[in-house]
Amino acid sequence: MAKMMKAALLMGPGKIEMGELPVPEYGDNDVLVRVKHVGVCGADLEFFKSGRIGAWVLEFPHVLGHEPAGIVEAVGKNVTRLKPGDMVAVEPGKACFTCPTCLSGRYNMCPEMVFMSVPGCKGAFKEFLAWPSNLVFKVAPGTDTADACLAEPLAVGIHSVSQSGIKFGQSAAVLGGGCIGLCVAQVLKAQGITEVYLTDHNKVRLEKAKALGINQIFNDHDGDVVAQIKKLSGGGVDRVFECTGSQKAVTQSLELLNRNGIMVVIGMFGEPTQAVDLNGLLMKEASIVTSFRYCHNYPAALSAISSGAIKVRDMVSHRFKLDQLQEALTTNIQNKKEVTKIVIEI
Ligand SMILES: [Zn+2]
Ligand SMILES: [Zn+2]
Repeated sequence: MAKMMKAALLMGPGKIEMGELPVPEYGDNDVLVRVKHVGVCGADLEFFKSGRIGAWVLEFPHVLGHEPAGIVEAVGKNVTRLKPGDMVAVEPGKACFTCPTCLSGRYNMCPEMVFMSVPGCKGAFKEFLAWPSNLVFKVAPGTDTADACLAEPLAVGIHSVSQSGIKFGQSAAVLGGGCIGLCVAQVLKAQGITEVYLTDHNKVRLEKAKALGINQIFNDHDGDVVAQIKKLSGGGVDRVFECTGSQKAVTQSLELLNRNGIMVVIGMFGEPTQAVDLNGLLMKEASIVTSFRYCHNYPAALSAISSGAIKVRDMVSHRFKLDQLQEALTTNIQNKKEVTKIVIEI
């Protein structure tokens, strides 16, 4: 096997160059994956633009990308669950799986987490990836890796719906129709929630949502969406999924909640949020829960993708090859209004 592989190297803010890296070594419990497709995420865009997100500051050259799917090339000697040739998706968060938090089952909160593509761990925009086998999930034959890589955002959606504790017969509003909002809305629908309202100010996203079967869509630049949803729902909704990371949507969320409702925070906020009206929340005995990444959600995401229960492919608006990564990320940033999701073919 070749010793070197192709990789898209982030050389500094806004600058990607194709280069070579050694093919990674893999340990006895690891899998070497030939990467086929990688989704582009908002975090990739932030790192590309500024080389940092909050306290995470990259050292260059770096490799972005944390939504990979591909084919198993080789396995470590202790790995029996997977074999060369298997189609797989790779969960990008390496938890320690030994600390009390991990042992409690909430490994997404592991304090030792090493996340693919954040500082200290090179990402997936490259030909090969070595990763612990317990985070590499087999994909049903007949599935395309271009779809399987979208298990990552879908897992975010599945985890958030599970955090919400929503029950059959209850109603929900999803604020923000980007990839995560579309995933949340589709998971709700797939779980039998019929009353799902989705808001965004971007027409392309709203059209996508409609094409995906989300019927109740509202343009936030077109009148008072809170009043419109309240009118249709008979006063409010039982769950609000905040997927925008904007102050305006926080206020809208609290206004939209029914008595005993739950707001789920999924969007990352670029700036510190203002005070929340806790009295308003208290008078409704409503709650706020948060949802960070995912834990134990990849198998469900992959089976929803391969069975067609959730149509991830329809969320994708653009496709590029690995050597067009600079163009892909620039397109995503400059044509934000046109892009719902970009997938890179390696
Ligand atoms: Zn992501
Ligand atoms: Zn841990």
